[in-house]
Amino acid sequence: MNLEETPTEAAFRAEVREWLADVPRELSGARDFEKRLDFDRLMAARGFLGYMWPREFGGAGGDPILASILEEEVGEFGMPLQRSPSRMGTNLLGPTLMAHGTAEQRERFLPHILAVDEVWCQGFSEPNAGSDLANVQCLAVENGDGFRLSGSKVWTTQAQHADWCFVLARSDVEAPRHKNLSFMLVSMKEPGVDVRPLEQLTREAEFNEVFFDDVAVPRENVVGKINSGWQVAMTTLASERTYGLRSRYGYYIRELQAVARLVREHASGHQRAIWTGEIGHLYADLAGIRNLAYKVLSLAAAGDDVAPVSPISHLWWTRTHQRVADLGFRVASAVGVDQEYWYHLWLDSRGETIYGGSSQIQRNLISERELGLPR
Ligand SMILES: Cc1cc2nc3c(=O)[nH]c(=O)nc-3n(C[C@H](O)[C@H](O)[C@H](O)COP(=O)(O)OP(=O)(O)OC[C@H]3O[C@@H](n4cnc5c(N)ncnc54)[C@H](O)[C@@H]3O)c2cc1C
Repeated sequence: MNLEETPTEAAFRAEVREWLADVPRELSGARDFEKRLDFDRLMAARGFLGYMWPREFGGAGGDPILASILEEEVGEFGMPLQRSPSRMGTNLLGPTLMAHGTAEQRERFLPHILAVDEVWCQGFSEPNAGSDLANVQCLAVENGDGFRLSGSKVWTTQAQHADWCFVLARSDVEAPRHKNLSFMLVSMKEPGVDVRPLEQLTREAEFNEVFFDDVAVPRENVVGKINSGWQVAMTTLASERTYGLRSRYGYYIRELQAVARLVREHASGHQRAIWTGEIGHLYADLAGIRNLAYKVLSLAAAGDDVAPVSPISHLWWTRTHQRVADLGFRVASAVGVDQEYWYHLWLDSRGETIYGGSSQIQRNLISERELGLPR
């Protein structure tokens, strides 16, 4: 693999930087949902959102290396794409509809995902179905020309802002596991949908409980075959474990540079030497994550299976980011500068080894599927 940038890649990086120079600075590092949405819409207007989506689905048909440069620059600007409101549509549902949706579903939903004029959320997890996702109990009962949905979901990120939710529901109470679920697109405006925000460690409410009480779902909103929702959801999960990798690199490097600045400006002696060593180790990890991201994007663009790499990358970036946040928090606390920022990041990063599949589940996947170890 050649890691040198070609003239085309360098020119594209310059183009992205030029565009970012005109983006309002207040959007850099913004945690506020509305501001992140503003940034998404600027990306959409510039044709950068869904950059790798095929042209037939309204995307730019972008090359994976250029897409990774775009992600990295946006991350370094201070807008981690992996936290953007558009991600549920562009990175999770979009690829799922491209793989399993009908022509009508693609035509109805994909343009609005790309324009970010409809916001999506992911309704998979339930109180007793997180790691064991196949155990979902939310019930979809056939009724005339559609379904009536009842039950509850939990940890549903951005449900309080969403227009739509893609839901995994039990559509057959008799059939065995993995053959009893359907993947359905549910309007959050439908009567019977109740969203209750959950306060997190950070005092923010990013995720929610969602209750469905006899909610109408038309038959044409089922993605894939009825009772084949498990296979459809696997496409979504594979995307979830690999998206935004280069953006993570750009954003995490930015954070590591902030730690390095604190150490340079405020530390001395043996303490400075120890922290400098830790920064060096983290820099090496981030460089590795950057190169793994090239591989994942190249595999995805070639239509190859990313499943073998996705748990490895998920484990690596989540742990590494927690280590960056941990070092930043320790340094900030010791030197008495920027403590609030680092405390928030430290708390916020706790969830990274849980969502998208916990670290234990990623290790199970590696050991059982890749190494062939016994269950
Ligand atoms: C910030 C955040 C945002 C989220 N956003 C969403 C969202 O938008 N939509 C959505 O559907 N879900 C979302 N989730 C939920 C997330 O997918 C689940 O939390 C996750 O899958 C784990 O499920 P659980 O919480 O039920 O934990 P459990 O499955 O109950 O697991 C508890 C513990 O047991 C371990 N464990 C469980 N099974 C095994 C096993 N077989 N082998 C070894 N260890 C095991 C787990 O690793 C964990 O440590 C979000 C979670 C977080 C933290």
